[in-house]
Amino acid sequence: MVKETKLYDALGVAPDANDAQLKKAYRLNALKYHPDKNQHNPEASEKFKEISHAYDILSDTQKREIYDRYGEEGLNGAGGADMGGMNGAEALFSQFFGGGAGGFGGMFGGAGGRPSGPRRSRDIVHALRVTLEDLYKGKVAKLALTRTITCQKCSGKGGKEGAVKKCSTCNGSGSVTFQRGMGHIIQQFQTVCHDCKGEGEIIKDKDRCKTCNGKKTISEKKILEVHVDKGMSNGQKITFPEEGDQGPDILPGDVIFVIDEQPHQRFTRKHDDLYYHAKIDLLTALAGGSIAIQHLDNEWLKVDIIPGETIKPGQVKVIEGRGMPSYRLHNNGNLYIEFEVEFPADNFTTPDKLALLETILPPRPELELPADAMVDDVVLQDVDPSQQGRANVRMDEDDDDDEQGGERAQCTSQ
Ligand SMILES: [Zn+2]
Ligand SMILES: [Zn+2]
Repeated sequence: MVKETKLYDALGVAPDANDAQLKKAYRLNALKYHPDKNQHNPEASEKFKEISHAYDILSDTQKREIYDRYGEEGLNGAGGADMGGMNGAEALFSQFFGGGAGGFGGMFGGAGGRPSGPRRSRDIVHALRVTLEDLYKGKVAKLALTRTITCQKCSGKGGKEGAVKKCSTCNGSGSVTFQRGMGHIIQQFQTVCHDCKGEGEIIKDKDRCKTCNGKKTISEKKILEVHVDKGMSNGQKITFPEEGDQGPDILPGDVIFVIDEQPHQRFTRKHDDLYYHAKIDLLTALAGGSIAIQHLDNEWLKVDIIPGETIKPGQVKVIEGRGMPSYRLHNNGNLYIEFEVEFPADNFTTPDKLALLETILPPRPELELPADAMVDDVVLQDVDPSQQGRANVRMDEDDDDDEQGGERAQCTSQ
């Protein structure tokens, strides 16, 4: 037995409809009421919203379960307040339409997902933007949370002792049941009690608690100290149990912060390892030298390239133990350095220097041509900058340097 059937009715299906039936009903109705087909019919657009809303909930197993058990009220959560001032309906809205205030709408939910016992207010989930520096060093973020708490003045009763009367229309349940005959089937429906607006109680105006205006709850701002530990990673959760919205007969949900690691200018991270792209000149690559890398704390690493080591373009070397700290372990990942070798400018290669190079570099390999080949002498030209994208499409496959050439076509993926 479901608590209410409004959403099922909107789609014209029975509460025991399976996924395929729901989908079919939705598609039929969506086609019929689509605003594009009903431009002069505002009722159709309302209906369209209604069916979309219904389908959004019923097609999600978890939400459908909550709806079946608690009705739409259950989906909206217990209180109105949460991080960023979103109310339940808005949170739900952003869940369907992406984006919205927190951008994390999709993670709300969890209201009453339990089989029995008292209801629990929905978890408040908040994305916590952190830099790689924060995750390297650890930090404490202080965040203000607005939540609903039980009114202390009336101890959550809504008014003076004895001023709160049970609603006689619904006998305190907040909902009324009625029956409707459909052919030979009699269906039972439940709806919110109009006399008490689903509260199950009636309070006389003069006896209402002044602090909460009879609502039993008030909004409270609380500062939470969020400890971002060294080595935490993107998507990791920091949970404050039962710091969510309070209410009469409702267990507070959790407040959960989800680490949202921001991309970094110098480093990329993979698990506990860091990756750095270093440009070195040809002389350093061949004859050694040093490069400096600014790390994620205030430290600089002076990296020595030993003469004769010969760094080749694209070569990757490692500095062990200089990556990210391991979460709750005492070792660090590695720092991998990928080298890009920059050649001297064109004006460096004067004839006298070239002559000198010929004496020290290994000789050119012999040109190999079949004896009977027809040979045509051709000359290389520079690529027109406007054609650079075209020129680089094939080259990109083993080259991820996009410093030169302006806008290149991003045709390959790694
Ligand atoms: Zn009160
Ligand atoms: Zn009532």
